[in-house]
Amino acid sequence: MRRSPSPRRRTPGACCGAPSAATRRAPAGRATAAGPGRRLAPAPGEGGEGRPCQGHASCVPICPSQAKYTPLRTQARWGPSVRLVTRAVVTRVLIDPAGRATGVRYRRYAEGPEAAPDPAEYTAGAELVVLAAHAIETARLLLVSGAAGGSGQVGRNLMDHPVLLTWGLMPRPVGPYRGPGSTAGLEAFRFGAARARRAPFRVEFGNWGWTWPLGPPDGRVAELLRTGGPDGRGLFGPGLRAAVGDRIGREFSLQFELEQDADPSNRVTLDPSRRDRFGTPRPVLHYDLSDWVRRGAAAARSVSEQVFALLGAEDHTRFDPGPAWPGYFAFEGRGYAYRAAGHGAGTHLMGASPATSVVDPWQRCWDHPNLYAVGCGSMPSISTANPSLTMAALALRSCDRIHRDLLALHRPAAVRDAVPAVPGRPARTEGAERP
Ligand SMILES: Cc1cc2nc3c(=O)[nH]c(=O)nc-3n(C[C@H](O)[C@H](O)[C@H](O)COP(=O)(O)OP(=O)(O)OC[C@H]3O[C@@H](n4cnc5c(N)ncnc54)[C@H](O)[C@@H]3O)c2cc1C
Ligand code: SF4
Repeated sequence: MRRSPSPRRRTPGACCGAPSAATRRAPAGRATAAGPGRRLAPAPGEGGEGRPCQGHASCVPICPSQAKYTPLRTQARWGPSVRLVTRAVVTRVLIDPAGRATGVRYRRYAEGPEAAPDPAEYTAGAELVVLAAHAIETARLLLVSGAAGGSGQVGRNLMDHPVLLTWGLMPRPVGPYRGPGSTAGLEAFRFGAARARRAPFRVEFGNWGWTWPLGPPDGRVAELLRTGGPDGRGLFGPGLRAAVGDRIGREFSLQFELEQDADPSNRVTLDPSRRDRFGTPRPVLHYDLSDWVRRGAAAARSVSEQVFALLGAEDHTRFDPGPAWPGYFAFEGRGYAYRAAGHGAGTHLMGASPATSVVDPWQRCWDHPNLYAVGCGSMPSISTANPSLTMAALALRSCDRIHRDLLALHRPAAVRDAVPAVPGRPARTEGAERP
């Protein structure tokens, strides 16, 4: 989608205290051209290299042409010292009485839903342990292991981007169901004085028609087959084809990603009475929205109504309490519903003090000098932006620190008492210094 000028007549958001809203392109990490080292088609059996974006529109959950990032590329560069253990689930971090992590316990499982887990328990010993199992699982592992509990913040402040979806039919076809899910949006509502009253949000233009709010188009086709004809009976043959082409091609949706405040009562805890197949207590989530977020949802709905009016689109947005919308809530006399974005954050938050945070600015647990908890769980604020690029930058920063820690552990031994060299042999070194 190309950048388009701001609407001329009226600016959406005038009622919400937002500055004028211009369309902006969204950053996206996917290959758009065949460059050096990338092939137009991977050779049979060749992993790790893919084709440029083919517009399959299935980026979530998977890119068939591997145009998105794939760990296969990183793994292709690993040296022989790296060993990857697959089908392995860490069940506990091992901590010695001095507070140093000494490794992890893990269990293994075979392929297939019916396969019983390997009854053996394995241990990977380590001088330095990095947990990177994302916000819920990293918090669960810390809680199960009784680790990093000094501040009492492990598992708390669970955040996501609650997403308010609105959907409508445009006056003419707009070419949905092609390319990545979103390539542009309105960013102005992320900033400004209105943040003090209500949650700010970014607005994504959805390229996937009504899939996120209502599911894939086959549901709408089934409806046309049942009741799509002028007499309320089913539509078939050329009439059905024409109706599908007309309706599906005009589907449009807006995705409002709301910032959520860090609330300690939104949290991951353990339920020892309910265990997974490895015997580890299952996580329990307590999650709700504050009135600040709910006011943000109300402002988003109002922006959506203005945008649809400017576009001449028929607004089909409708939220009903029930299983289709588990995130339904009523606010100031109106019904809303949200979906989760999958952007979990906050459960091992980073801070400047061990009294109030779980990890230091390097994502190292305050309570354990050689245990890192890396990922979105370290974020003390989710802001309005999708988190992965920031998370990757934080992880790279932690890598520098981890490298330094390991170098310190293995730096050349300091000579305490030089043993006189035997002529013809190198001098011997005694007494290695360890921090
Ligand atoms: C549907 C969806 C769409 C998204 N879209 C975007 C987007 O457009 N932009 C964006 O910035 N972010 C997006 N995100 C968020 C993004 O996926 C995450 O921020 C990112 O994947 C986090 O990376 P991670 O490596 O920390 O965790 P993950 O990618 O979750 O990796 C954690 C790994 O740890 C493994 N693991 C967990 N527990 C254990 C255990 N006990 N033992 C061993 N292994 C374990 C898991 O199997 C997994 O492989 C999206 C998320 C979802 C769900
Ligand atoms: S649209 Fe998404 S899934 Fe399709 S090729 Fe491009 S990156 Fe991959």
